[in-house]
Amino acid sequence: MTVKNKTNIAFFVALITLGIIGWFSLQGNRNTGEKDHLVSHARDILEASELLRSHMYGASAARRAYTLWGDPRQIDAFNQASKSALAEFATLRKLKSEDPEEESSSLAQMESIMNERLTLLNTSVELHRNTSDDRKQQAAYDDHSTKLNAQFTELLDVFDRAEQDVLKQRATAAQASYQRGVRINAFLGVSVFLFLMLTLGLLNRELARREHAERSAAEQKDLLQSVLDSCSDAVIVADSSGKIILRNPVGVRYNARAPVEELSEEYPRLLGLYKNDRETLFKTSELPLSRALAGESAHGLEICVRPPAGGEPQWMLVAGGPLLNSRGDKRGGVVFLRDITDRKKADEQLTVALQEADTLARESRELSEFGDWLQSCQNIEESYKMAETYLPGILGLRPGALCIINSSRDLVESAATWNSCSTTEPVFHPDDCWGLRRGKPYGGPASPMACSHVRASDAMNFLCVPLVANGETLGLLYVEDKLSLLAPSPQAVTFEQATLKRRAMAVAERVALALANLKLREQLRNQSIRDPLTGLYNRRYLEESLNRELHRANRTNRNVSLVMLDLDHFKHFNDTFGHQVGDILLKEVAGVIKARIRAGDVACRFGGEEFSLIIAEANSEGTYKCVDSIRETIKHLSLHSRGQTLGTITISAGIATFPVHGTNSEELIRAADESLYRAKNAGRDCIRVYEPTEATANLADKTA
Ligand SMILES: [Zn+2]
Repeated sequence: MTVKNKTNIAFFVALITLGIIGWFSLQGNRNTGEKDHLVSHARDILEASELLRSHMYGASAARRAYTLWGDPRQIDAFNQASKSALAEFATLRKLKSEDPEEESSSLAQMESIMNERLTLLNTSVELHRNTSDDRKQQAAYDDHSTKLNAQFTELLDVFDRAEQDVLKQRATAAQASYQRGVRINAFLGVSVFLFLMLTLGLLNRELARREHAERSAAEQKDLLQSVLDSCSDAVIVADSSGKIILRNPVGVRYNARAPVEELSEEYPRLLGLYKNDRETLFKTSELPLSRALAGESAHGLEICVRPPAGGEPQWMLVAGGPLLNSRGDKRGGVVFLRDITDRKKADEQLTVALQEADTLARESRELSEFGDWLQSCQNIEESYKMAETYLPGILGLRPGALCIINSSRDLVESAATWNSCSTTEPVFHPDDCWGLRRGKPYGGPASPMACSHVRASDAMNFLCVPLVANGETLGLLYVEDKLSLLAPSPQAVTFEQATLKRRAMAVAERVALALANLKLREQLRNQSIRDPLTGLYNRRYLEESLNRELHRANRTNRNVSLVMLDLDHFKHFNDTFGHQVGDILLKEVAGVIKARIRAGDVACRFGGEEFSLIIAEANSEGTYKCVDSIRETIKHLSLHSRGQTLGTITISAGIATFPVHGTNSEELIRAADESLYRAKNAGRDCIRVYEPTEATANLADKTA
């Protein structure tokens, strides 16, 4: 049972008890009044009885005075007393008749005696008025009157005693009734007091409980308020009509930019609430607060806040849900907003860093692949082809060129170009390039002036990176860079240019290293297969090449001719002019041979003044013509040394052709040698094609 019910019950019991007390009090008073009335009535009767007795005595005394002394005034006194006695008796009778305990027999007897005595007394008075000599008679009357008086007095005494008893009984009863009333009232009064005390106690308890509940509610409110105040997230609450009814301080700060108090259609525009793309405004119905009001929960929604007044965009992570009261009824919606701008920025930076790392990894992969290909190149020309193939990809489709410094270091020539690069001169002096002059990358908008070899009108959009390896500058990587200018923002342009520079430098480093390696390799190879004096191949190379050419010719059913060529009288020449001039002569002859043969042919110094040539895909006749032109050219050389002419130089040569004169290198060399001897024997300055002797011819027939 609740305290309220208990209090009510106690209070009602107290009220009912009070009612009962009232009733009892009323009843008691009425009872006491009745009792008092009865007592008073008994007293009136006794009083009337006393007066009657007095008036009777007065009448008797007046008659006696008159009869003794004859005073006429006593007649009036007698009459008055008689009348009063009768009147008093009437009163007594009346009172007695109202009394519930009437004793009429006694009164009737009393009345007859009273009347008899008054009549007697009256007769006595009348007698005395008529006659003065009535002594005897008067004495008789006296006696009779005394007797009657005695009877009357006795009756009246009895009556009085009875009435006094009645009075005593009634007074006792009235007293008892009064005391009972007092006891009941006291009991009920105590009860009322107790119930009122109980009610008071319950009320106090209820008040204390309420006070405690109110204090605790206030503390709860205080706690909630301090939680809201100290919350770093914004908290916004709207009632079911969409009116904003609560914001914590952070929420107030957010709202301060555009004080909107209602979730209207204009709400997203006024506060600048955009979707993830930063361009599309939210619709009001899509906002978490609207969805919360519609009864939905929304979590993890990101909102880009771009204040209409301008300023840095801010990112919010929003969660919301319906607001329910303790009975579970919807009464509005609540949203929590967390500022995630820093996290978002960090995410973006991370994304950029990842993209950059990805780009760098791809770049590194491409460069390493390019490097591998360069390493596999057999000669410098191949490496130029490789550069033309790979560099457009690595350098982002920008036109460019590899320009190589020649061996005399006075010219730079374009060796490879890609994407129709046309803004650099194909040949220029090394000093025309600031990059080459300074030995570091040069170009771009920050450069003070353009290189002279660059001929584009907007000449600043280029990059020259020197190719430096092992301390030697080999050339230049030239890249046109108009593409970077197309980037969407100045930062992006700078980024693109920096990326290009980084890549170009990496490419230049690899190309330079590869070129240096190839150059070195070529030098080593030349040293092993070339004759240092004439620059022609040596004998070892000739043997290798001859085998290779014979295999190829065998496969393709073609001819290969071998020529053995010798300077006539070289010993004599050496003896006459000295070895130095002899060396010059050998170089001159080598030069003529190189000039007169085709690119695919091989010329070598076989030893001393003897040379040999491999003329590919040529029969004896063709070879003869070629060698003859060499012989003619040499014969007409006009050589001088120290102002002295060296005279006419002649050569002798022998030709052997695969497969007719031999099927392997040994046979061919032997056949060509034999032909050479035959030419020598025939007087020199002539050429002989191999003619088999009988024995060898027979052998050849058999094998054929
Ligand atoms: Zn340059």
